[in-house]
Amino acid sequence: MSNEFEAIASRRRPLLIVLSAPSGAGKTTLIRRWLASDPTLAFSVSCTTRPPRPGERHGQDYFFLSEAEFAERIARGDFLEHAEVHGRRYGTLRAHVLEFLRAGRDVIMDIDVQGAATIRRQARSPDTDPLLREGFVDIFIAPPSEAALEARLAGRGTESAAAAALRLRNAIAEMAHWRRYQYCIVNDDLETAFQDLCAIRRAEKLRTGIGLATGAEED
Ligand code: ADP
Ligand code: 5GP
Repeated sequence: MSNEFEAIASRRRPLLIVLSAPSGAGKTTLIRRWLASDPTLAFSVSCTTRPPRPGERHGQDYFFLSEAEFAERIARGDFLEHAEVHGRRYGTLRAHVLEFLRAGRDVIMDIDVQGAATIRRQARSPDTDPLLREGFVDIFIAPPSEAALEARLAGRGTESAAAAALRLRNAIAEMAHWRRYQYCIVNDDLETAFQDLCAIRRAEKLRTGIGLATGAEED
């Protein structure tokens, strides 16, 4: 490249930011705040077969599908990844995510540890779309303690006692995955955790490309 100044100025690497956390760690709270603070950020709206919580809107929080509709989408190959979480199905639409990345927007994906492992594998494959490969950043949000997690799950009050107990059991199992992520943020003080997220995004935007998609451990 003869003009390195132009090359640096025109550098564009839309980020595919994958966030995972045990249920109740505060991921939704952090993501809502992040989206509200920056309208250029895009949220990958997932499909799910779980029923909507009060206030959740179809097409905004999730695409709420029946089991049959979800199965049809799998058969059509529409999902970048999909998994069963807490006894329900969840999946990310490939076309939806690529549309944002092609428009140059950073995308936030709120997915579980299984889904993150699938995307991580794809990000390492030479056959994968370069936008997914080069933009991939994964972050694990951890609660400060098991007691805090239990209190937050109970405090949210969106699940029945049985569903909350299942989520807590799964949450403890999910904690074991934090080492597979490039970054781990402890959501103790909400403001600090939010600043940590913004710092990661900012640093990732400054990367030259060296070491991309090679930092994560093998699954
Ligand atoms: P997740 O999306 O990870 O399941 P939520 O964002 O729904 O979690 O948060 C679970 C509960 O914990 C909510 O009631 C939320 O207000 C609360 N919460 C989130 N972050 C914090 C924090 N840093 N300190 C205290 N409570 C928090
Ligand atoms: P919730 O029911 O609390 O909204 O989400 C439950 C879990 O499903 C969370 O861990 C969330 O990250 C995960 N999840 C949401 N959407 C997807 C998705 O598209 N794919 C996968 N694999 N997990 C998802």
